[in-house]
Amino acid sequence: FDQLRATDPEIASVVLGELDRLRGGLQLIASENLTSPAVLAALGSTLSNKYAEGYPGRRYYGGCEVVDRAEEIGIARARALFGADHANLQPHSGAQANFAVYAALLTPGDTVLAMSLPHGGHLTHGSRVNFSGRWFDVVGYGVRRDTELIDYDEVRQLALQHRPKMIICGATAYPRLIDFAAFRSIADEVGAWLLVDAAHFIGLVAGGAVPSPVPYADVVSATTHKVLRGPRGGMILCREELASRIDKAVFPFSQGGPLMHAIAAKAVALREAATAEYAAYARQVVANAQALAGGLAAEGLRPVAGGTDTHLALLDLQELGVTGREAEARCGAVGITLNKNAIPFDPQPPAVSSGVRVGTPSVTTQGMREDEMKEISSLISRAVREPESAPEVTAAVAALVTRFPAYPR
Ligand code: PLP
Repeated sequence: FDQLRATDPEIASVVLGELDRLRGGLQLIASENLTSPAVLAALGSTLSNKYAEGYPGRRYYGGCEVVDRAEEIGIARARALFGADHANLQPHSGAQANFAVYAALLTPGDTVLAMSLPHGGHLTHGSRVNFSGRWFDVVGYGVRRDTELIDYDEVRQLALQHRPKMIICGATAYPRLIDFAAFRSIADEVGAWLLVDAAHFIGLVAGGAVPSPVPYADVVSATTHKVLRGPRGGMILCREELASRIDKAVFPFSQGGPLMHAIAAKAVALREAATAEYAAYARQVVANAQALAGGLAAEGLRPVAGGTDTHLALLDLQELGVTGREAEARCGAVGITLNKNAIPFDPQPPAVSSGVRVGTPSVTTQGMREDEMKEISSLISRAVREPESAPEVTAAVAALVTRFPAYPR
């Protein structure tokens, strides 16, 4: 770091400033985490220098024999951890992973059935502003109005009606478990591929805290930077029969040279995720999310779908008469980082929204448990309801993160 400071003080101060921000507040963004120093060391390594188009043992550049080992080790760890026939660690992000899956299994114009965005789906599940909605005919399913759970009857009926070539499950803001067996059976009934986009919860699968989609899906796409606590990036798991199609769809179809430093960092995270400590962490992430949702419910923020089985909760603020945008800003002002989020059947436009999403991967990495989640619930409630008490809430947030520091000095 001293070298960075000497060469580029401006960027050095950005790096330090971000570290201060992480240390100074509560990070409740459900899709974020705090990577280990070991992951960061691999990311900031000379592996970044190497061009390695292709796959281990089959590269288009010389000198890949060393970096090959990082990718081979990472692939072996992913396969072992998730019980998958095949793993591809090259996607630069979750969106790139999904792009490659579409490319491997579909032709533009094909029909896809996926969760609609306002109900928790991701941009790559058919948004008009994304390749998925522009190049594919995407039909959306949603949750039931009464339970706010996925409406499996609707999924089946839409599948029978539209005969999609691929069905996607997995979402960005769905707090409950997904019934992979039900999706498998619907996909089989209409002869569709089943893609489980496990971007959000693959880390919980790694730690055994939620059921694995691997036995049910044709392909599982994921990110490596959420609960899994690895570097920012993507990953694809699939059955042996699809291995070559998936690999070709990543490289050369949609990407060039792989980020070998990121692949090495993914391998480190996968090693960490295979430990008993990580399994305990994953279970605590869920217990904390449940405690946080319960605490917020007691404060009048209604958990969508009645609560959570995962690392995240979606809260409906309508009873408080506060929008998601206002709540995000008020929490931000006291050092609590969370995001506004549309709730199912939201009367507000997405940029305003009636909800917020909270997640526990980062605070659990910092060692917080159920008691701290209760404290955070009351801090969020005060921040949202009583903006005038911001100075006291800010001080309470600072005291809490001093007890549970991110990246302890
Ligand atoms: N799929 C889902 C369900 C996601 O929630 C996300 C990101 O939040 C992605 C894909 C895309 O991941 P990335 O932001 O790495 O492209």
